[in-house]
Amino acid sequence: MIYLDYSATTPVDKRVLDRFCEINANCYGNANSTHQLGREAKNKIDIVSDTIRQMFMTKQHEVIYTSGATEANNLAIKGTVYNKQHLGKHIITSVFEHPSVTACLSYLHNQGFEIEFAPTNILGVVDVKTLKTMIRPETILVSIAAVNSEIGIVQPIDEIGLMMKSYPYVTFHSDMTQAIGKIPVTIDNVDLVTFSAHKFYGLKGIGALLRKTTTIIETQIHGGRSTTDIRSGTPPVPLICSMQKAMELAIKRLDSQYRTVFGLMTMLRAKLAAIPNVIINSNECCLPHIFNLSVLSKDAQTMANILDNSGIMVSIQTACFSGAKRSDSVFRLTNDERRAQTSIRISLSYLTTFDEINALVDVIGKEA
Ligand code: PMP
Repeated sequence: MIYLDYSATTPVDKRVLDRFCEINANCYGNANSTHQLGREAKNKIDIVSDTIRQMFMTKQHEVIYTSGATEANNLAIKGTVYNKQHLGKHIITSVFEHPSVTACLSYLHNQGFEIEFAPTNILGVVDVKTLKTMIRPETILVSIAAVNSEIGIVQPIDEIGLMMKSYPYVTFHSDMTQAIGKIPVTIDNVDLVTFSAHKFYGLKGIGALLRKTTTIIETQIHGGRSTTDIRSGTPPVPLICSMQKAMELAIKRLDSQYRTVFGLMTMLRAKLAAIPNVIINSNECCLPHIFNLSVLSKDAQTMANILDNSGIMVSIQTACFSGAKRSDSVFRLTNDERRAQTSIRISLSYLTTFDEINALVDVIGKEA
């Protein structure tokens, strides 16, 4: 079995699972209870939140734990615009967002919010100068993902954040789900940051929204008192502690895993370039971890099935795609219907081997 779908989700690191089991066994109190066990659970969460803030080198953000990035993106976007709708209804985003952002924005569009897309250059990178000119007095939110999940395009989040400092009345949200654990990120000038542990060898079912404490958002899950005013519910302390462990491990191996994946991707790119009918969609502005290509002779699902039958697992579009027959991101980047219909995503990890890459290239070479 060859797993090349690490951007859909990653296997759990045993040390993360051990941490989860240890906390589950020893710290079962409800962090919202005021008794000793409750205080112990709450204390554990506070320590994790402090550690996460240190890892991101921020003192300005509250850590709001969620079930993952889909919930965190919904909370960031709806929480912002419902709080600010009396000031305006204009939202700016990019055409390279994940469905948990685009579906949320379509929902808001149906409620009367105006959604505009920041233009991108031929490599898919947001043009910050033009984005600046699009900001109006009634703009309330800019939402741009740090890394696109289908092609891997990396956006200039620092540059956008710096520019946004001139517009303190506009909230800046970045979905960093595909960036964290893969590349260094800075969040100083980002008001709302979202991510999910299962993308960096953590457990499924836990993620977070980092909120600058000066950025006000409306709660989306109403309920009883919790460790934050913004999301009700009993905090999953074992999952929260396990996410801290996953983040610590991810930060420790950040440089070495990048070098490994870069080497794998370079070899993959060179080998695929020699196969007729194969076009590589990921470019020099993409992460090495996400590698998108089109096998023009085969529809994406057919190619993915052929690979699957050979024991190789890849994605078409993202794992959360809408069921459309073509990749929207690839179409937006290339303006080529056939490339969009035949695109598959290979996602690599520091666990991937050169033999696995060779096996993939062999099958593509035979079928292309
Ligand atoms: N944003 C991006 C960029 C993603 O890749 C994903 C996962 N495919 C999500 C959000 C949703 O994450 P989760 O599975 O934690 O809801």
